[in-house]
This record gives sequence, C-alpha cells and structure tokens, in this order.
Amino acid sequence: MIGSVDIGGTKIAVGMVDDTGRLLSKMESSTDADRGYPDALNRIASMLRESAQNAGAEISGIGIGSTGPVYPFSGEFGDVDFLRGWEGKNLVQDLERIFYVQAAIENDGDAAALAEAAWGAGKGKSRLIYVTIGTGIGGGIILDGRLYRGVDQAHPEVGHHIVDPSGPPCSCGFRGCWESLAAGPAVLAWMESTAPPNYPNRKGLTAKRIFELAREGDELALAAVKRETYYLGLGIANLINLFTPDMIVLGGSIMKSSDLLLDGVREIMLPVCAI
Ligand SMILES: [Zn+2]
Repeated sequence: MIGSVDIGGTKIAVGMVDDTGRLLSKMESSTDADRGYPDALNRIASMLRESAQNAGAEISGIGIGSTGPVYPFSGEFGDVDFLRGWEGKNLVQDLERIFYVQAAIENDGDAAALAEAAWGAGKGKSRLIYVTIGTGIGGGIILDGRLYRGVDQAHPEVGHHIVDPSGPPCSCGFRGCWESLAAGPAVLAWMESTAPPNYPNRKGLTAKRIFELAREGDELALAAVKRETYYLGLGIANLINLFTPDMIVLGGSIMKSSDLLLDGVREIMLPVCAI
C-alpha cells in the first residue's frame, strides 16, 4: 500500500494506492504554503494516517509528486514559486522518520509520466511522453522504460519549448513558449483581447467557461478552441519529431474538453505522423 502525496500551489492531496494503481481513499487540504513547512508536514502526516485508516491499510511506502523544482535524489525542495520558504526542507527524510517506511519525491510531471506508464493510459509503453495542460504546461518523458533526467538530474520543461518567438512573454523570460500560447490562461487572454466590447458573454470568463460556450455554438469561443487546437497540435508535433515516442498521454484541466480538441490536434499532427 503506497501513501501518495500530491503537492500543488493550491492544494495538497493525499491518498492510498494499492500495487495495481487503484486509489482506495483520498483526502485534501489547501496548500497554505505561507503557514510554513512544519505546519504542512503535520497536515500531510495526519492526512496519511487518516487516509490509511479509511482504507483499512498499513502504509508500506510513500510517494510524493510536487510542483517543482524538487531534488529526487536528496529529497529536498528547491526554490518553488508556490512554496515560499520551503527551499531546502526535506519531506522524504521527514516522512521516513515519522512512518518508518521508504519515501520518494518526484516533480509532479515526472510522477504522472511514471504513473501513466505503470498503470495508466500508456501502460507498458517504454517510450512515453506525458503532458499536462492546465494553468501551465508540464510533463515528463520516459525513454527506454526509464524516466529521462537531464544534467544534474534536471527535469525537462516541455512547456517551455518555443513555438512562436513573436508570441506573448512567458514567466520563464522567453516569448512564445508552448505554455504561453496553449495553457488555460492563454485561452482566456486571447478571448479577452479579441472579444468586442459588446460581447455578451464577457462576464465571468474562464478557460472552462470558454469551452462551455463553444459547445453552445458561440462563434468567438469556437475560434478560441480552434486556436487552442492549433497551438496544442504544434507542440505535440514538435514532441513527436524530437522523440518519436510510442505514445503521448495528455492530461490536465484543459483535456477535460478533449472531445473538442483531439480531432483537430490529430489533423495538425498528420505531416509528422507520415514521416
Ligand atoms: Zn516559458
């Protein structure tokens, strides 16, 4: 039984997962990083205990996926944007000390790639790229059945390959990164800057709402979806050209509308798939 911990900027989720990948119980708490690392450690430990109790299970190991940068080989947090003051703290050692089991930490994109390859949509694929499209674009790369790590074990940032150098500025300092063009905020930003002043659906717009409007036949929302499809497809085509993987697994909140996107994305991918 694996105690699983997912640390994001907004919430921390904890669950019990058996060795077939089945989720048996789940709890969550808001991250509240400002309350400090010791407070978060206590909450994580008590959620793990309660979640194990709910599943009627004894924890035999702990796996942590966290928004990065994190250092899997030492177990420490790096300088994470959403976790101010947590740098250098070692959740792996702390949870091992509390629960007397082995623990491991990975960047959440890498953890998700490993999970998809072991138990998910890419089960058994030895060359797999996982991409999550939500507030940002992240992911992980598995080559020859192993997680790909770069120099100094660095995590590759698929969301920051440049798709259009004349595109919008990105948080990383470049312009036109895949993330700046195709993540949720980019869908919203395009819509807000393109909608005429008298556009009736301007109020309360979110990426999610834009997909709903597209379903209702709103022309501007359909154009936003078309643009999203285009940039999503370009990024995926680049990944195929660079890595020729067995499979690319897509996740994240934007993919809840995959029915509106995937046909178009496949069309854009055609030239690379013909190579
Ligand atoms: Zn970037």
